[in-house]
Amino acid sequence: MRFRRLGYSMVDAIVDYRQTLEKYPVRSEVASGYLAKRLPDQAPETPETMEEIMADVQEHIMPGMTHWQHPNFYAWYPANSSYPAMLGDMLSSALGIIGFSWNGSPAATELETVVLDWFARFLNLPDCFLSSGGSGGGGVIQGSASEACLVALLAARTRALKQRGAAPGSLVAYATDQSHSCVKKACMIAGVEHLRLVETRGADGWALDPATLEAAMTADEAAGLHPFFLNTLIGTTSTAAVDPVADVAAVAARHGAWTHVDAAYAGVFACLPEQHAQHFQGLEAADSIATNAHKGMLVTFDCCALWVKDSFWLRSALSLEPQYQFAGLRHEEEHLDYKDWQVPLGRRFRALKLWFVLRLYGAEKIRAYLQHHLDTAAALVELVKRDDRFELAAPPRFGLVCFRLRGASDEESRAFLERINRSGKAFLVHTVVGGRHTIRCAIGGVQTQWRHVESTWRLIQQLAEEKEA
Ligand SMILES: *Cc1c(COP(=O)(O)O)cnc(C)c1O
Repeated sequence: MRFRRLGYSMVDAIVDYRQTLEKYPVRSEVASGYLAKRLPDQAPETPETMEEIMADVQEHIMPGMTHWQHPNFYAWYPANSSYPAMLGDMLSSALGIIGFSWNGSPAATELETVVLDWFARFLNLPDCFLSSGGSGGGGVIQGSASEACLVALLAARTRALKQRGAAPGSLVAYATDQSHSCVKKACMIAGVEHLRLVETRGADGWALDPATLEAAMTADEAAGLHPFFLNTLIGTTSTAAVDPVADVAAVAARHGAWTHVDAAYAGVFACLPEQHAQHFQGLEAADSIATNAHKGMLVTFDCCALWVKDSFWLRSALSLEPQYQFAGLRHEEEHLDYKDWQVPLGRRFRALKLWFVLRLYGAEKIRAYLQHHLDTAAALVELVKRDDRFELAAPPRFGLVCFRLRGASDEESRAFLERINRSGKAFLVHTVVGGRHTIRCAIGGVQTQWRHVESTWRLIQQLAEEKEA
């Protein structure tokens, strides 16, 4: 049978790619528009062979690939993809369902509920976020942390409009100047006119100060506005800073606002007891929390887990069923339809890949995997500290190391980073910390070992030497 043969050959091609990844430059160097010049301008009239297609993949696609699974990919945040997740995704493709409602395929809905309870327990989240926690809460898989932020904001908006009778134009959302741009986008989509980006300071570790938040909410209320949503962060995109979630959620609750915890990247580190004790206390004060299993936790994109303490307002915001359109009228469903917890109707069977990862690795191995990245990052930090041409720009956390060339101007720092990336041997991106250009090294690739990080650091030192010479 054709699929059997081609399928096996695809598995071979996948393994070959993964095993020879290091021969590719990490970052693609093609110019914009390179591909259309190389490909025909129409689809073929008659079938082509897999061999022809795979030859084109090598010749035309690979040059335009930035290799996110490369062990020397340190840009943005990792999006690691594992064989167990690929197997789960393959099965999902084969089953080919559109599981919008429970009866669209009961197992798809029910596995998602069970697996998100597993995932929540694995991260030691408070019971109120479990489907079995008794508060009407539970988890759902969203495509991305941006979607999770949007639906949490829509739930908060509905709650404020229905419960407090607030006028839509009076609603104010709060986030910090370190927040991901997805908060601004969520406000644009939801028609929220007021978004306060509360200022953070280096002295507070770029975290939200409860007193500053209190003052901002009080001032807005005095002006006749309604605080309704707080986006708080565990692991900012820029430096992996952590807000004091319990304290700021208490402020938000006093002013009637919903607290959403964006732990898109860092949330999975809650599975490590030491990390949990340090950064993940008091989460029961939040109304919703999101983390991407598709960043650090071996689940192929897309798999953002969103947990809510009480799904009622989410369903009120997103369900077309009339019973949810009226505040206070709580109907317990016979079964759960995840279409009422998200923006689109259709949804893939994404719980499979998470289930496969949790089972084929087991909790112990995943914890060891994440700890390995933390240890690798800590070892890099030691090397940075030992070289006085460099300085750390922020406290390293969750595998993210932010550093810069001591005394370099932004222009020099930018040029230096570009030389690292142009080498093809590593790929890093920058952020701005305290107004200054800063290089970020996010460690967390599936294949990233100490030898990769160490050789990248040697390359960086060598380029710094050439600069001085
Ligand atoms: C990566 C990230 C996001 C965006 O995640 P998507 O899943 O791509 O939408 C949002 N917030 C934080 C803190 C992130 O690290």
